[in-house]
Amino acid sequence: MVAAGPPNKKHLTPSQIESRLERVLLSVQKPGRYVGGELNITVKDWDAVSTHIALVFPDLYDLGISNLGLKILYDQVNQRSDSLAERAYAPWLDMEQVMREHAIPLYSLESKHALADFDIIGFTLPYETLYTNTLNLLDLSGIPLFSVDRQADHPLVIAGGHACFNPEPMHAFIDAFVIGEGEEVIHELIATHQSWKRSGSDRPELLETLAGIQGIYIPALYQPRYDQDGLVSEVERLSPKAPRQIVKRLVGKLPSPPTRFIVPNIEVVHDRAPVEIMRGCTRGCRFCHAGMITRPVRERSVEEVVNTIGSVIHSTGFQEISLMSLSSSDYTHVLELVSAIHQRFSQERLTISLPSLRIETVSVDLMERLGDRRGSGFTLAPEAATERMRSIINKPIPDEQIVATASAAYEHGWTTVKLYFMIGHPAETLEDVEAITSLCNRIMTEGRKRIGGRARVHVSVGTFVPKAHTPFQWVACDTPEMVEAKQDLLKKKLRDRNIKLTWTALEDTLLEAWLSRGDRHLSQVIYSAWSLGARFDAWQDQQRRSVWADAFAIHQIDPYFYSHRRRGLDETLPWEHISTGIRKAYLIQDYQKSLAGETRNDCREQCYACGILPHFAELRRQNPGDAWMCPQVTSPSRAGASQVQ
Ligand code: SF4
Repeated sequence: MVAAGPPNKKHLTPSQIESRLERVLLSVQKPGRYVGGELNITVKDWDAVSTHIALVFPDLYDLGISNLGLKILYDQVNQRSDSLAERAYAPWLDMEQVMREHAIPLYSLESKHALADFDIIGFTLPYETLYTNTLNLLDLSGIPLFSVDRQADHPLVIAGGHACFNPEPMHAFIDAFVIGEGEEVIHELIATHQSWKRSGSDRPELLETLAGIQGIYIPALYQPRYDQDGLVSEVERLSPKAPRQIVKRLVGKLPSPPTRFIVPNIEVVHDRAPVEIMRGCTRGCRFCHAGMITRPVRERSVEEVVNTIGSVIHSTGFQEISLMSLSSSDYTHVLELVSAIHQRFSQERLTISLPSLRIETVSVDLMERLGDRRGSGFTLAPEAATERMRSIINKPIPDEQIVATASAAYEHGWTTVKLYFMIGHPAETLEDVEAITSLCNRIMTEGRKRIGGRARVHVSVGTFVPKAHTPFQWVACDTPEMVEAKQDLLKKKLRDRNIKLTWTALEDTLLEAWLSRGDRHLSQVIYSAWSLGARFDAWQDQQRRSVWADAFAIHQIDPYFYSHRRRGLDETLPWEHISTGIRKAYLIQDYQKSLAGETRNDCREQCYACGILPHFAELRRQNPGDAWMCPQVTSPSRAGASQVQ
């Protein structure tokens, strides 16, 4: 059991916080995590702005400093003359203990203000295993954990990120969720908050006004009803101002990317600058949450990407740039981009990584032209090892293409091919799993043919977790026994000494599986798990399975109800009032196609009317031509009576 009370009752001033920090920082590991002062931070005059926002990544600085979403919002807010954004991350366990012992509240790295002094606290929640850290950070800030207990003078607590597309498990702790992309909605949120402050109205008034902004979900304005089996029967709106459906927010055109990235003073996990080249994905892999929730595809021009890289190098000195997207090969101008980068930066000692390339030999040429470091291995992600299974998940690549691409990588000087697979896909058999070993052995044989005994294969096998808003949102996870049997099979069969196998521990996926398709009942479980000591659930060495088991037991909730139950297609899912724009009928049809082993083409080739265009017709009309990879919309109307060419 950990101390659950807030570490301070009154807000300390920044100078009081700094003086306490001076006394304790040398007693913790890596004090550089907690001091700020990095290159390119923005420190504004606190009293000269009216809105103060703390952007919080609820994991360690070493990881959070690289989060692109937080960098974008930091840039957006700090461009405003009337607002400031500062950062905070989760202290590691040693620092948390010291902070509690010395009554140091969670503070921002820039000005050392206590988080409780800010107007808005914005959490980035890309994955579910950050939930207990979020509670811990609120507690360290002295802010009531439950939204219902906050008063007008408490900060507004908001959250955004991919995990928030099913916000229900965290509904009790977050005042407002931002569903979708934050670049525009953050400004509307700030403007609303400023008018509310001027008006002197109460907190419920603020929440009701925020509910009127597209993409903002106020959980306090909704009440789900459950039937006797514990299934959602309806979601009641508690205010006429709350929309029936909260449609995600997206930007019609990607705004200028940030370039003055903060350069950490200590070694961090990803010591490179991310430059986003494209958002969204048209491939339609059925397991892929990001691919479904980030539609439609919008690209940046080659010129903008190249100029951005130039500015990033100039302002940060980073020598490694990662070109970010969900599927880099699908960037329309990828060859042109690679040539332009090569031309402009050939004299710089620059490493450019182009992650998520398609499995085809041209990817090897691309990596070669970018001067990829051979040492890091050539990465391929077939996800499944039989063509049958790859049809089910809609990643149809012939075996021959996978082997040929691996072979080309060895031939061009890579000694290691890294292969990413998942087990536990729907309808997967032990034969499908055994095929992973055959495919790896085939690739190893190719490697030996090309470069002899230097060839290596690294096989990473994750376990599939079905996610909300995907065509697999109805399926049950494999039972723990089945996952273990599949993992044992791989361990037994992959015996080649040059093939290295790593896999995800069962515990790593169970928690994610419970939380990602959870309902409101889980907020009490999350609270209990945190009270019992759960922290850093994404960290393998910190996981406390028994704590979570106890937390579920306290509330007499069966976790397998969430992870191992097949949902009926007619069931009202707890997240159905949140809309990604994709129609439920489309997801059902895609799921049924999957069961029949049918694939869909890349939707750049053929639009399947997934629902994005009717929802965002006006935005598409404002951004015509190839700004989006969806068909043009003609005769749009805000009433949604759009026609697709
Ligand atoms: S509207 Fe058509 S092209 Fe656009 S994302 Fe949906 S299926 Fe793909």
